[in-house]
Amino acid sequence: MKSPAINQAMNILRELRAISEASHDIPEKMEKIVTMIAQQMGADASACYVVVDDNYLELFASCGFNPGMAHKISVPVGEGLVGEVVQTGRSLIVADVWKHPSFSYKPDIGEEPFKSFIGVPLIRWHRAIGVISLQKKEVYEYSRAELEVLETVAMVLTDMVASEEMIDYKNQLIKSRGQSSREKYKGLSLSKGYGIGNAVVHRRRQAVTKIFAEDKEKELKRLEVAHTKMNADLDEKFNSTKLGIGEHVDILDAYRMFAKDKGWYKKVSDNVNSGLTADAAVERAYEDMWNRLSGTKDAYMRERLHDLRDVADRLIGYLNGDQIGKQAARYENLVVVAQTMGPADLMDYDYTKIRGLVIEDGTPTMHVAIVAKALGIPVVAKINGIYNQIKNGELLALDGNEGYVYIRPSSPVQERFKAKIREKEQLRAKLASLKKLPSKTLDGHRINMYLNVGLAFDLDYIETTNCDGIGLYRTEIPFMASDVMPDVERQISYYRELMDRAGNKKVVFRSLDVGSDKLLPYWSNAGEENPAIGWRSIRITLDRRAILRKQMRAFLRAAEGKELNVMFPMISNYAEFEEAKETLLIELEKEKRRGNPTPKKVNVGLMIEVPSIVFQLEAVLKEADFISIGTNDLAQFVFACDRGNPRLTERYDVLSAPFLHVMQEIVTKADEAGVLCSVCGEMAGNPIEAMALISLGYRNLSMSGSSFGRVKSMVRSLNVEEMEDYIRILLRSNRRTLRPQLISYANDHGIEIY
Ligand code: PEP
Ligand code: MG
Repeated sequence: MKSPAINQAMNILRELRAISEASHDIPEKMEKIVTMIAQQMGADASACYVVVDDNYLELFASCGFNPGMAHKISVPVGEGLVGEVVQTGRSLIVADVWKHPSFSYKPDIGEEPFKSFIGVPLIRWHRAIGVISLQKKEVYEYSRAELEVLETVAMVLTDMVASEEMIDYKNQLIKSRGQSSREKYKGLSLSKGYGIGNAVVHRRRQAVTKIFAEDKEKELKRLEVAHTKMNADLDEKFNSTKLGIGEHVDILDAYRMFAKDKGWYKKVSDNVNSGLTADAAVERAYEDMWNRLSGTKDAYMRERLHDLRDVADRLIGYLNGDQIGKQAARYENLVVVAQTMGPADLMDYDYTKIRGLVIEDGTPTMHVAIVAKALGIPVVAKINGIYNQIKNGELLALDGNEGYVYIRPSSPVQERFKAKIREKEQLRAKLASLKKLPSKTLDGHRINMYLNVGLAFDLDYIETTNCDGIGLYRTEIPFMASDVMPDVERQISYYRELMDRAGNKKVVFRSLDVGSDKLLPYWSNAGEENPAIGWRSIRITLDRRAILRKQMRAFLRAAEGKELNVMFPMISNYAEFEEAKETLLIELEKEKRRGNPTPKKVNVGLMIEVPSIVFQLEAVLKEADFISIGTNDLAQFVFACDRGNPRLTERYDVLSAPFLHVMQEIVTKADEAGVLCSVCGEMAGNPIEAMALISLGYRNLSMSGSSFGRVKSMVRSLNVEEMEDYIRILLRSNRRTLRPQLISYANDHGIEIY
């Protein structure tokens, strides 16, 4: 911003603060504010609209138009110029509104004399909650400098509109009109389960009221102190076993790395150097990043944006000496309600007391949801407006299975929830009691059950499940959580830890499977058009052979004196497997020549994830010691269906003849060749799908720890030979999905599919 514009913005902000402090009458205050802004910016009229419910904007104050129109004009979001500003979340400049296609004429307000228009959205948490607009009588194009001034003013106005005082005012308005507030909200379930507790509204974000710095050096110092303290506290939290953070090492490690990111810190300091306060500088740096990245389709980048929002809020909190989580100490059962949250935020509370999470802007892949799921906390997300609706201490009931949140639930609803929670506890106890029992079907078939492991907390399941081993160790996860490519020594320590925890149990290491949706922070993505079928996985590690060699060396050294099982992902043809296997064997020879101790035995396998390899199975099975089917990728390529696209999830089903035929073909060929064959995709962890796999001949399943009990319970109630005939009949069906038939079969035959 150039200095006359800065001066103008500073004048407006000064007056805005003075008006705000002088009056607590909201209508009067708003009126004075819009009048002052119009005068300062040489406009003939101005208006402030506020979103009252999700779909409507209401005129809260105006000047220059017909008087007394506040609360009498409402506009649907998307309609007219102000409606467009809210819908798009972007500022709009129009030289002559009468010629603009979106302009919608409202006779009551008295807008006939005005031509030019500038509207700036009041953005809170990526959503417009209102608009401030100015108009002049003449045809006029507002300048970039004027836009910047109004955008700066809008930042402060946003905090005013989102204040507690304003929310109470809006609620009173709604009440006085006889509109009852909703008590039951439907959202998106991100983690299953039921919970009841007192609401703790996670208000991290501070209103940034002071935008321009008076003393640059002082601000830089403030920033440095807050940043250092924040990182020191994060380190302490991270290392604190009392908070249970040790269970979430990988996600939190990645977050910590983000908080320490030098590039971002430099951007914030540059903003301070250009005249902003430390708080405003953090906010501006975040907004710049958001403007650049919010349009990205890349799920990984979107999650990084969430982390950045969280780090920005945390830092602003530190700049203001905030104490998070204090109010929660009063309650034994908490339901945390947040607009958005980072994984570290969860650790601000005693997570053993958290009975549920409501996250207004949540997505299934967001880190806090992943951590909450691992901790067994139900999560419901995507309920517009709920964050402002709920007050601290209110009783909330959360149905994470169906995605409902009940505010102040009635006694019968509370009773129902308590019964559900008890039922779930009983089921958990029942599943836990299976731990010592063999994983054997009713007709005596032993099913080997393994774990899929990626994050550090997954390792706890080794003890709690009594599994047969680790069927899939996703080695890319520690690579993703590290800020530099881990060297051989670092890798050895990861792998050794896993082998030590596994004891005598088998461990299958998968070579680095990056690319597509799994990006390394220190490795720029080539920006491919089709990353899922692009340069990923084994294609990368064969091309960048040094990475593969180093990983093989680390595997060999970590498994000294033990059995080593290595498999390669995304193998598309025989030659690729041969090349990968040779790389491992050459490293083994080198280790022997160096005189280094080597594993007792080395088994080499591959993942079946690409349909083409199914047509070369005979050849590849001669060279492989084992195979493991990655049904997540295999299904996406068999159906040509992006595995991450929610629009397609209902369209194709792995429980259908085409896919089950492929699965049958693989296990039959592997059995004929005498090669161990397992499934490590999601299919193996879902009882009904695992049931179908067993009936097709699969005897080795690898799944996440949280699925273990349910699958074991199914296994122990299944009669395989009885079911084999039924699956043969089903394979002839042309139905889109065979799921209903399989569920009915399970129900009719007493097979437990929780
Ligand atoms: C799979 O594709 O099924 C698999 C297990 O690998 P990932 O999910 O890690 O791609
Ligand atoms: Mg895969």
